[in-house]
Amino acid sequence: MLKTLFCGDLRPEHAGQDVVLAGWVNRRRDQGGLIFIDLRDRWGICQIVVDEENAPDAHANANNARNEYVLQVKGKVRMRPEGTSNPDLATGEVEVVASEINVLNPAKTPPFYINKEDNIEEAVRMKYRYLDLRRPKMQNNIVLRHKAVKFIRDWLDERGFVEVETPILFKTTPEGARDFLVPSRLQPGKFYALPQSPQQLKQLLMVGGYERYFQIARCFRDEDLRGQRQPEFTQLDLEMSFVEREDVMQLNETMMRELVKKVTPDKRIMEEPFPRLLYKDAMDWYGSDKPDIRYDLRAIDISDLAGKSGFPVFVNNVEAGHPVRVLRAPGMAGELSGTKLRQVAAELEDMAKAAGAKGLAYIALSSDPNGEAKGPISKFFTVDQKVELFERTGAQPGDLLLFMSDRKEVVWDVTDVLRRHLAQELGLLDTSLLAFCWVIDFPEFLWNEDEQRWDPSQHLFTMPMPEDVTLLDTDPGAARGSQYDMVCNGFEVAGGSIRIHDRALQEKIFPLIGQNMESAREQFGHILEAFEYGVPPHGGIAWGIDRIVALLAGEPNIREVIAFPKSQTGADVMSGTPSAAEPGQLAELHIKLDLPEEDEE
Ligand code: ASP
Repeated sequence: MLKTLFCGDLRPEHAGQDVVLAGWVNRRRDQGGLIFIDLRDRWGICQIVVDEENAPDAHANANNARNEYVLQVKGKVRMRPEGTSNPDLATGEVEVVASEINVLNPAKTPPFYINKEDNIEEAVRMKYRYLDLRRPKMQNNIVLRHKAVKFIRDWLDERGFVEVETPILFKTTPEGARDFLVPSRLQPGKFYALPQSPQQLKQLLMVGGYERYFQIARCFRDEDLRGQRQPEFTQLDLEMSFVEREDVMQLNETMMRELVKKVTPDKRIMEEPFPRLLYKDAMDWYGSDKPDIRYDLRAIDISDLAGKSGFPVFVNNVEAGHPVRVLRAPGMAGELSGTKLRQVAAELEDMAKAAGAKGLAYIALSSDPNGEAKGPISKFFTVDQKVELFERTGAQPGDLLLFMSDRKEVVWDVTDVLRRHLAQELGLLDTSLLAFCWVIDFPEFLWNEDEQRWDPSQHLFTMPMPEDVTLLDTDPGAARGSQYDMVCNGFEVAGGSIRIHDRALQEKIFPLIGQNMESAREQFGHILEAFEYGVPPHGGIAWGIDRIVALLAGEPNIREVIAFPKSQTGADVMSGTPSAAEPGQLAELHIKLDLPEEDEE
């Protein structure tokens, strides 16, 4: 080893010892005859003192060194002189008096500061990701990720789970996204698909008798990279035999709770056991199947009341079977003047319109308890109706009540958008809090208006709830699936289901989702065949590791917890990936390019 101790491990107990350290120059201060170097390695920073008189060669090397030079330092540890210790640094009571300094590698001036938490432009960070990864914040994130994954592996190992690797070159797995295809050289014209998840293979491992499987699995989905998606991402993929929904949920909840407590003890889990929400309630209350329940801001249904009001829009909507719901924004009307109030209401209405609404009505309560309720629709409610409205919504002086009414899908979208906005505006987002919940009783299928067919709400292997199986024949839209999603702070962090393990039932799903049996057999023949050889009832789940680690690290973006993430255009700007293939490679694969015009230029 080129070092005997890590920089960050240096303590008073080492005083008097000869040590060899190696790392990067974090900072250098030249005080003439004395040079101070903060030397950094993965474990922390320590102070090196170089005295020109006692160690002239070391001093000359220190003199030439600049930030990010890689140095090896030999010297003796001593307590820092009285009054010079640094309580902000774990190593701050000691320093190393250098007798020898070797420059292991010089460094150009980096394009950004490694030793300061600056707002660095993301494009630059990504181009020089290896430098970005040196920053302590990134190192903490990557080490946290390692700890989380190690915890999961050990925890599952102790409970009899076996980690099995499944192929990356495989066949399409329908998780609802586009496949990445890899051309086969040996079988011209044929393609592998990179797995969107190991779904079929983990089910086949259950047929194979493993009973408890997991894998830290890389998954690939060729989607437009809206928001924070990555074309390749990591799942904890897990499957169990002879289980019911409750068993899988309990095991995963326990693992998650213990994981949080072990790796991020400073985070607070809002409620244990995790509350459970029916899909229907999640949508009606929060407008989302992944609600952020750190804050309540729940849409209150007032359809019955609004249907009896004098406001024609509400009356007509209720007659047509559409809901009227109210979001209460606490204190948001407050002391606002009439003009300011109308301006705030107009901004909120624009957001609602962008989410599909035709408008957004409001009633503003004066902060004076005896004051008038303001807003154009106020006059359509009688005094008694208003009393009931305020009671039901829990309205307080100064609150702003926002009324949403439309098809239920539109009301859901508006609820979601406004809730998220209000939470931000009202400062309700506590980053130290992890608000987990389960969402259950999803519909088995969702109607696809464009294609005029049902889509699986999870995927086509999800077992309907046992009592709803017969609905597949009579009213598929009413059948609930055995899906369960674990949600945290507004993100789906895990999702799974009990699976169909019966060939006849599995075959029933294909025509419902608009797939003809011939192509279904071609795509899934292997799994249908396997279903004839003694299949244990089974179910599983997959955790989004990137998202979970981001939540634990308190990072808003998953790119902060992935060592080498892709950009919004699916590129790795550091290496210039993706890149053109050599003509010879394409010829071997029997591929001719037919590029759109702008790409040919
Ligand atoms: N394969 C599913 C997914 O990737 C998860 C599961 O059902 O286990 O979302």
